[in-house]
Amino acid sequence: MAIYDREAEQMDRAELSQLQLERLQATLHRVYKNVKFYKKKFDAIGFLPEDCLSLEEISRLPFTTRHDLAQAYPYEMFSVPLREVVRIHSSTGSPGAPIVMGYTARDLNHWAKLAARVLTAAGVDRDDVVQVTLSYGLLTSAFGLHYGVELLGASVIPIGPGGTSRQVQIMRDYRTTVLISTPGYALVIADQMDRMGMDAKNLFMKVGLFAGEPWTEDQRTDIESRLFLTALDNYALSEAMGPGVAGECEFRVGMHLNEDHFLAEIIDPATGDVLPAGEVGELVLTTISREATPLVRFRTGDLTSLDYAPCDCGRTLARLSRIQGRADNVVVVKGINIFPERVGQILASFAGEESVYQLVIGREGPLDYLEVRIEVREALFFDKMTQQRELVYKLSHKLAQGIGVTPRVKLVEPGSIQRDQETSPLVVDLRT
Ligand SMILES: [Zn+2]
Repeated sequence: MAIYDREAEQMDRAELSQLQLERLQATLHRVYKNVKFYKKKFDAIGFLPEDCLSLEEISRLPFTTRHDLAQAYPYEMFSVPLREVVRIHSSTGSPGAPIVMGYTARDLNHWAKLAARVLTAAGVDRDDVVQVTLSYGLLTSAFGLHYGVELLGASVIPIGPGGTSRQVQIMRDYRTTVLISTPGYALVIADQMDRMGMDAKNLFMKVGLFAGEPWTEDQRTDIESRLFLTALDNYALSEAMGPGVAGECEFRVGMHLNEDHFLAEIIDPATGDVLPAGEVGELVLTTISREATPLVRFRTGDLTSLDYAPCDCGRTLARLSRIQGRADNVVVVKGINIFPERVGQILASFAGEESVYQLVIGREGPLDYLEVRIEVREALFFDKMTQQRELVYKLSHKLAQGIGVTPRVKLVEPGSIQRDQETSPLVVDLRT
């Protein structure tokens, strides 16, 4: 199979380390000079960018968290003047303010190239017709792969999410060969085909690239047999860039991480200590080519491991194992990060007092759902059913605005939610 950038993807490991060190040093100088947050953090431990003489030095540096990024709202993390920024993306669902990331023209150029690597590793080439069902908007999801497809010279259908029967018609009529979606939505498409009496064998699809929510090998088998295509995993992280960070090759032994642009560490989420290669822990990424919003030791919250053994495909880039869950209490529903505490904040602002609540996440068929259980209190108490229904509707709408996912709201008896981590945690995830 083809490799998009042989020089980078098959680089000798020693040469790669040298390149990483040079890019890391440049990044540290850049953030120290331009981002107050990093200047303060480095000064606090007496670290100067010129002190960084080896890649190992990075473990001395403090982490960057999503909370730090939200605190920096909107532009405090930007390392270049706004006039050099050509694109702004942001994520919703974080506690407090959203996270805003900028891209210079050079950042966008890198992004398209890295996405092209991931697409090529999946077997996409200029003859393909690629249907992107991810969302086009402030989130990075659809854009990264979109520009990668164009760079490869393949055709992109920027349909975005939803309208499933139309998706299926387009898939058939436009002769789509590549599907880009969340794993859950791929199964919704399969259901729709069943309803329309359509057999995927008669379509033209050959490969699907899936990301945006945790999925399993069983789901992969299911998607492959129902959509009659090869299903590949890729890793997208909006704070670091978007899709294009890592992706599987045809051997499906983990996702090749674009290490010449991202420096990876695996840490123990509890202690912050760096773990040896092969152990499962929280992925920490340092961007080493980003100009607009570089990140030093960003805690992704994703649990995975790194494999540096050579791959049969010939790429020398390390492989990330399938994401095995979240290290912090962020929960991913329908591909969107949800911070349980944010739900509490919204409920408090609605009711004027702290509410006792619990999040239940489950799966109905292939789709995630979020249920928010709230104890009925004085401020939230209405005895008439019609008023209660109205309240539930308003709450659900308010929560949807704040977290990006429309939850089912269920009012429960006072005292029925025990805030005891053992028997009744804040989040109950029935998907795992
Ligand atoms: Zn490989």
